[in-house]
Amino acid sequence: MATINNNYLKLKAGYLFPEIARRVNAFAQANPDAPIIRLGIGDVTEPLPVACRTAMTNAIEDMGDRSKFKGYGPEQGYAWLREAIAKHDFQARGCTIDADEIFISDGSKCDCGNILDIFGHDNTIAVTDPVYPVYVDTNVMAGNTGDANDKGEYGGLVYLPITAENDFTAQIPSQKVDLIYLCFPNNPTGATATKAHLQAWVDYAKANGSIIFFDAAYEAFITDPSLPHSIYEIDGARDCAIEFRSFSKNAGFTGTRCALTVVPKTLTAKAADGSDVELWKLWNRRQSTKFNGVSYIVQRGAEAVYSPEGTAQVKELISFYMENAQIIRKELTAAGLQVFGGINAPYVWVKTPNGLSSWEFFDKLLTNCFVVGTPGSGFGAAGEGYFRISAFNSRANVETAMQRIADKFKIQ
Ligand SMILES: *Cc1c(COP(=O)(O)O)cnc(C)c1O
Repeated sequence: MATINNNYLKLKAGYLFPEIARRVNAFAQANPDAPIIRLGIGDVTEPLPVACRTAMTNAIEDMGDRSKFKGYGPEQGYAWLREAIAKHDFQARGCTIDADEIFISDGSKCDCGNILDIFGHDNTIAVTDPVYPVYVDTNVMAGNTGDANDKGEYGGLVYLPITAENDFTAQIPSQKVDLIYLCFPNNPTGATATKAHLQAWVDYAKANGSIIFFDAAYEAFITDPSLPHSIYEIDGARDCAIEFRSFSKNAGFTGTRCALTVVPKTLTAKAADGSDVELWKLWNRRQSTKFNGVSYIVQRGAEAVYSPEGTAQVKELISFYMENAQIIRKELTAAGLQVFGGINAPYVWVKTPNGLSSWEFFDKLLTNCFVVGTPGSGFGAAGEGYFRISAFNSRANVETAMQRIADKFKIQ
């Protein structure tokens, strides 16, 4: 008889987004004329930059030309893309990262989960709370946790709260942890990490032989020039950090799929016999065995992000979303709500008013304003009492939604 991976049975059955959909559908059925605006989902809305589209169109033509046709590409990605990334995203910011330390993939979400393939099951793992659920669920699936409690916290994981009380910084734990997930600018809170904060984490990781998984999916949204875009801007990070990046949010590739993972050749972790093993070798082996690369066409599209036109167009896209974020911050503040984030990230993290729970505020916004957001409690116990509003939307939707919220909350 075939058996299953029982760890899957520990998963809290994808509660957040299905529950949002259930409540929105029920409301829409009862109120078929209500013009609902969705500011809940972390997906982009604006079209791909023209530079990327032109590059992909040309790449399709290459595929129709026998002399330029491409079959399987390198599992690690084409050298021209890895070199463009190394130069523009890392070396230009003073980071010592070589092209062959960059692995192209079809998504950061996938890589955040896949990376666990090369780590043991005996590691102590720390995540922030609230957190991008992928980090937690992939550890549950890999058997790295115990069962969940009533609050949805899994046994064996170390939760690091990030809330207004600690200024949305992930505090260094007093205990020793081996793997640490950090995401800055943060999804869902929109919080950022300063160089000093990341330096403290790097120093901790080096002192404890820990590895930091640094998710920089939102680095392009940083507007404050003093903030680091990459963990490798921090001294010592080459010895303790893996960085995940994606073209999803900066260039609108959520449906096109291209991302990258940086594994420095200087990174090591312990084998069972106590010896130090290079993580680059393991990840390279893992990718060569289980992955066959990203489509040539898509990689050409990603490469165009670094052309002068592509750079300018991506900048314009980011500015558009960040203007949305400014409008959201301004209007919600004027309506008397306390807001965080939205300055260096496309998410505004709202404190629910009058002690409402995250779901109570969700229902209030839906029924009174026809606006859908994301309850903070869905990202972790410490997200209770908060609410995420996404800046990924059309200007008209953002303005209309904010007008409705302003009207509703000012009357109170
Ligand atoms: C959107 C997002 C990503 C990007 O995932 P892809 O699979 O590359 O689309 C990664 N991390 C976080 C926290 C995100 O919100």
